[in-house]
Amino acid sequence: MTKVPEQRITKYNDRPINGDGHYVLYWMTAFRRPFYNFALQQAVNRAVELQKPLLILEALRCDYPYASDRLHRFILGGMFANQHHFSGTTASYYPYVETEKGAGKGLLQALGEDACLIVGDDYPAFFLPRMLRAAAARVDVLLEAVDANGLLPLRAAEKDYPTAYAFRRFLQKELRGPLLDLPQPDPLAKLKLESLTQLPKSITERWLAASDQLLAAGPETLASLPIDHSVPATDETGGWQAADNCLQRFLDERLAQYPQRSEPDLQVTSELSPYLHFGQIATQQIVQALIERENWTIDKLSPDAKGKRSGWWGMSEAAESFLDELITWRELGFNTCVLRKDFDRYPSLPDWARETLEKHRTDPRPQRYAFEDFEQARSHDPLWNAAQTQLLEEGRIHNYLRMLWGKKILEWSVDAETALQTMLTLNDKYALDGRDPNSVSGTFWCLGRYDRPWGPERPIFGKIRYMSSENTARKFSVKAYLQRYRLPG
Ligand SMILES: Cc1cc2nc3c(=O)[nH]c(=O)nc-3n(C[C@H](O)[C@H](O)[C@H](O)COP(=O)(O)OP(=O)(O)OC[C@H]3O[C@@H](n4cnc5c(N)ncnc54)[C@H](O)[C@@H]3O)c2cc1C
Repeated sequence: MTKVPEQRITKYNDRPINGDGHYVLYWMTAFRRPFYNFALQQAVNRAVELQKPLLILEALRCDYPYASDRLHRFILGGMFANQHHFSGTTASYYPYVETEKGAGKGLLQALGEDACLIVGDDYPAFFLPRMLRAAAARVDVLLEAVDANGLLPLRAAEKDYPTAYAFRRFLQKELRGPLLDLPQPDPLAKLKLESLTQLPKSITERWLAASDQLLAAGPETLASLPIDHSVPATDETGGWQAADNCLQRFLDERLAQYPQRSEPDLQVTSELSPYLHFGQIATQQIVQALIERENWTIDKLSPDAKGKRSGWWGMSEAAESFLDELITWRELGFNTCVLRKDFDRYPSLPDWARETLEKHRTDPRPQRYAFEDFEQARSHDPLWNAAQTQLLEEGRIHNYLRMLWGKKILEWSVDAETALQTMLTLNDKYALDGRDPNSVSGTFWCLGRYDRPWGPERPIFGKIRYMSSENTARKFSVKAYLQRYRLPG
């Protein structure tokens, strides 16, 4: 039994542990994976401690914001893989999928009645924190939630960091501990827990466990659910196994070229963000795979914590630049999300950014588009339309073009607040990795967050960093990208 670091565990209520309960309940809502999962590890530890069975509830509602064929298929793919995996362990897995709005209400409370305690996932964004708090108030046993979001525990930082440089300096001082304290790769491996004989019929008959057919999420199943069918499923499969394959493909075929990742005609990034977003893979699993690939040991870490982008890890250039995105940039977004209550509101932009945008508020906009024009990729700019088409079709945008995509929305919107709303809505509705702390940091970055003022001062942008399709096409090769994501007709 390996202890979960205290800093990662938060009590969501002050109810007792019920020693007479029939099982420990792990309520999997954000870290939807069997591996490298501190929350699952904590639930396993509690089950061992109390000598009780472990019941894992993974549920999917149908009324969360932006629920669509696309998001449902990806999540259900993950549940399918989890079902398969957990059936080979001594834990009991209960997948529940709402087939009509509100049908799942009461399930957690009902399961909570016979639980010793509930272990939940402590994820800081979207509707999940609200849901966890509401559930904690309704159950009669302890609900403790565990932070398995990233390499650095969310509560290790006491302040929010305004730039990646400042946050990187902090990380370089703090990461040695978390690198030595990785979660167990497979907390259920070789473990024999008490087995759960059965759940009350009043529960299993009212809230039927999802069938394999439902979890397989074929077109007919998706069509039968009350979700948005205008956002179609993509070809990508969700789940820990697909995430594993994606990681292996990245390491074998793409990592070496990662420093050229800004080239739109090259696709050399990992494409792991949807799996990370839905918690189907952990940062630590990715880091561990890199450690093995690079033959790395902790003594290679540089003692200098000067915030430099390269040289601190003591790995290859490609691995270090990848880790800078995966850890510095990704966890900076989580840091802002946790430490700034207003993190997703316009006034949280830095003063200089709001001042310069205010000064240019009434600048004429030679091109101005309504939300529907943006949504349907109907701008005058073929490269922007191609990026939006990729978002509509694949639920992602090439990493460099995603920045250009946001900058142009600022340029072609009536004002910066409207631009921000357009970006957030399109990103959350269509991107597989949307609705994440980094959906907010990416869109706010386009308006100056984590950045500095840039000259020369320009219309509309003022001192906000400017980007244009013409410069992008001059600097990089975009021909194949334009060809691939051309609008039909
Ligand atoms: C307008 C805009 C919106 C964005 N919306 C999202 C979003 O909804 N969800 C999301 O995860 N990222 C978002 N990003 C950040 C970034 O574009 C994506 O994380 C990245 O393109 C995902 O592709 P990948 O997995 O192949 O990345 P890789 O380059 O392989 O990087 C590995 C991982 O590091 C993290 N990462 C990489 N780049 C960034 C970055 N700039 N900021 C934060 N984390 C990063 C991601 O988790 C990513 O999966 C947005 C950026 C912009 C400019």
